Amino acid sequence: MNHSNPLGKVHLIGAGPGDPGLLTLRGAELLRRSDVVLYDGLSNTDLLVHAAAARHICVGKHGQTRIWTQSEIIDEMLTHARAGKVVSRLKGGDPAVFARTAEEVDALRAAGIEFEIVPGITAALAAGSFAGIPITHRGLASAVALVTGHEEPDKTESALDWDALARFPGTLVIYMGVTTAAVWSGALMAAGKPPGTPVALVRRCSLPDQQTVHCRLDEVADRMTPASKFRPPAIVIIGPVTGLAESMDWVTRRPLFGQTVMVSRPIDQAESMAMSLRDLGADVIIQPAIEIVPPDDWTDVDAAIADLANFDVVVFCSHNGVRYFLDRLGEIGYDMRSLAGLRIAVVGSKTAETLASYHLRADLVPTDFRAESLAADLASDVHNQRVLLVRASRGRNVLPEQLTTAGAKVTQVVAYQNRDVESADPAIVARVAAGTVDWVTVTSSASGESLHRMFGQSLHQCKLASLSPITSKALQDLGYSIAAEADPYTIESLIQSITQSQSES
Ligand code: SAH
Repeated sequence: MNHSNPLGKVHLIGAGPGDPGLLTLRGAELLRRSDVVLYDGLSNTDLLVHAAAARHICVGKHGQTRIWTQSEIIDEMLTHARAGKVVSRLKGGDPAVFARTAEEVDALRAAGIEFEIVPGITAALAAGSFAGIPITHRGLASAVALVTGHEEPDKTESALDWDALARFPGTLVIYMGVTTAAVWSGALMAAGKPPGTPVALVRRCSLPDQQTVHCRLDEVADRMTPASKFRPPAIVIIGPVTGLAESMDWVTRRPLFGQTVMVSRPIDQAESMAMSLRDLGADVIIQPAIEIVPPDDWTDVDAAIADLANFDVVVFCSHNGVRYFLDRLGEIGYDMRSLAGLRIAVVGSKTAETLASYHLRADLVPTDFRAESLAADLASDVHNQRVLLVRASRGRNVLPEQLTTAGAKVTQVVAYQNRDVESADPAIVARVAAGTVDWVTVTSSASGESLHRMFGQSLHQCKLASLSPITSKALQDLGYSIAAEADPYTIESLIQSITQSQSES
């Protein structure tokens, strides 16, 4: 908030071409400081996380919301700024390329409102990195023209000199040219541009469903008809640089490009898995099947914490167990010294990592991350020992059973509940039903059962990737077949099993 001036301030921020990672650091910083964000249909809504506390106003998305007129957008921007708010006007691509920023700036100056303009990556430049088409090249193009394919309809005469553009010694990039493809490509050819000139059509550049079509100038109009579904946003790059995509394209060569993968892990674990999948080119949908919540009643956990000195071994079955148990320990007035003298055992490597974040080292981690192996490792020396098992409200009973058989005195406490998510996001249900989700990752038997309940029969249309034979068995019992299975039972190898299966298909 600006205290020296009763008026607010406006940031005109380039959102980049779509991939949320392509916002500038300055853009992110200013979004964080905003009270209101006015964003257009080309700005990825994922960017709004940078302005989580701000009011978000969409000023138009084709086919989804009403498109605001330019004067309505300006009025809205001025209203908030005059009320002393810090306003971010988030625009797709760069605010100074076909974005009417000059009109917005005129209005701000007339109203005496301070502003800042933050550049963004414009679509033509994004094509260089994401479609492998650099718009300049030492031997092929020493100049670029950014051209609108969509002039204002009320213009009586074209402001564009097609003769000059046809002769232009460099790359032409046509913005907003989808619906008018026949008009501008016809005008270029009529002005002498050879019909065989190589062209690339790049749609939704930098997004996971990016499409690129290479063709000739005289084929463009046929490739961009409504029936072709090559709808905006798309840019057209005209010139020999388009041929470089053959060697420079890396986006579509990624192993999971074109694959939609659902991550069904609990929300706090979903993002890191999603990131690894996105790095491989996948379009990731997150739909948790299970949610993790604190226990309804802490009595047993608190009693065990107070009694820790009387245990010999503590076993953590999952990283959530570590988090909930150790956080609770701190909350009720203890610290890590309460664990002094205890042996600590964990089932998985992730659990050991979480333990390490509390500066605790696991004494025992089975090499294959299975409960059976941990029980076997412990069996030889837990006779008559007191073992505290920190676990979820549901899960397998292998450990307590085998440890009890080995003569241990086992106390189990439920440090968190894992329960089924009640229903899936309707948009995701629709995508699964439409058969547009290629892979569903399943990381436990319980999540498999929950997914089965949420999606029913339509889940059969997806390929299932399972974390372990136990998870696979649960899915097979429900009538599913397994397309990929992790070995060892880690998220990394689960992802690898998907890429492996893709490369074989
Ligand atoms: N300021 C924006 C351009 C806005 S005009 C920029 O700098 O990129 C809207 C046009 O931009 C679309 O019709 C399309 O031609 C182009 N465009 C924007 N984002 C795009 C994307 N991700 N992929 C392809 N074209 C895109």
